[in-house]
Amino acid sequence: MRGPTLELKRGRERSLVRRHPWIFSGAVERIHGSPQTGDTLAVCAADGAFLAWAAYSPASQIRARVWSFDEECPPGPGLFEAKIAAALELRRQAVPAPAGNALRLIHAESDGLPGFVVDRYADVLVVQLLSAGSERWRETLIGIVREQSGCAGIYERSDTDARALEGLASRSGWIAPAAAGCLVRILENGIRYEVDVAGGQKTGFFLDQRDNRASVMRLAGGREALNCFCYTGGFTLAALAGGASSVLSIDSSGAALDRARSNLGLNAMDAGRAEWLDADVFGALRKLRAEERAFDLIVLDPPKFAPTPKDAPRAARGYKDINLNALRLLKPGGLLATFSCSGGVSPELFQKIVAGAAADAGVSLLLRERFAAAPDHPVLIDFPEGEYLKGLLLERR
Ligand code: SAH
Repeated sequence: MRGPTLELKRGRERSLVRRHPWIFSGAVERIHGSPQTGDTLAVCAADGAFLAWAAYSPASQIRARVWSFDEECPPGPGLFEAKIAAALELRRQAVPAPAGNALRLIHAESDGLPGFVVDRYADVLVVQLLSAGSERWRETLIGIVREQSGCAGIYERSDTDARALEGLASRSGWIAPAAAGCLVRILENGIRYEVDVAGGQKTGFFLDQRDNRASVMRLAGGREALNCFCYTGGFTLAALAGGASSVLSIDSSGAALDRARSNLGLNAMDAGRAEWLDADVFGALRKLRAEERAFDLIVLDPPKFAPTPKDAPRAARGYKDINLNALRLLKPGGLLATFSCSGGVSPELFQKIVAGAAADAGVSLLLRERFAAAPDHPVLIDFPEGEYLKGLLLERR
């Protein structure tokens, strides 16, 4: 007995056969039974063949998200224990201890657990339940991660826009309080940071950039650096630790800059090499040009300009603008580390935009390296949406 069933339109099973985990509303022929939000559905092709077990989300364009492609393995504690154990094992293999004690333990769809995100900051877990299905299994999922990770403190940050699209109210707060409170001290690549799990952006820290911050540390020696969209100082501290002669850091969030300054104070670094600017990067880059400032290392790590492909044209203008104006500040021989975390902008498109900016700036660039998210943000080959972060390391010739 399969229970409530989602029947696909004829010919719409192709992406599921390729193990893409989303079923869009337009592919649905009919729902049999009367499932509630988050309930498990059997997904069947028009000919009745079983394809997957999925969570029902009637409010969302993504009408169902797949838990399992195996008819013998419907969602429940057994399936979740196995998936979470596999996710934790991947991190043990892929994230070596010197990288630090902060990492993403569960990366939603890419770990086979749609909408479920878990970041670990020292001994505190920050969890996000971003889909109707993960919300439905909230206690089970959190209980398993808690047990398998051995972390006592758990803070929930289910307060993103994604929840609204699923028809879910936002929720945040302690599930199991940590003695240390909301400011959790972590170590990354030998640098100390304090993460505000309650008030910080996302879950508090941008863990996906860990390895790229390590790259910047390696490249920064003796350079005058500019870090745009610095948040709590990730790339700033990495550049200083790597021996940058100075770092100018820009962000439009005063709270992020305050945290960045205090993070600098947690480390034995010369605060005199750091300059902070509370400003909009778009305007600040133009102003720096007018002041004839120039740098030999620039980091551009803006927020997501294009959540979906339909936002790509507007986002492209934003990326072009900041890359063009950053290149105008880059000395010959200087390095630009430029990123996009927009799911709607492919790596190919991003490279084209940056090449266009270089042409307009009249500079010649050597592509020295491509950046991606750290391996605790894995990518499933059939779920390209999971490959959102891309970056380029460019040298001005
Ligand atoms: N590189 C950071 C993460 C950047 S997150 C790290 O490694 O931790 C993006 C940052 O951009 C946020 O701190 C946000 O406050 C800031 N931001 C967003 N729009 C901005 C703008 N127009 N000008 C300046 N900062 C902006």
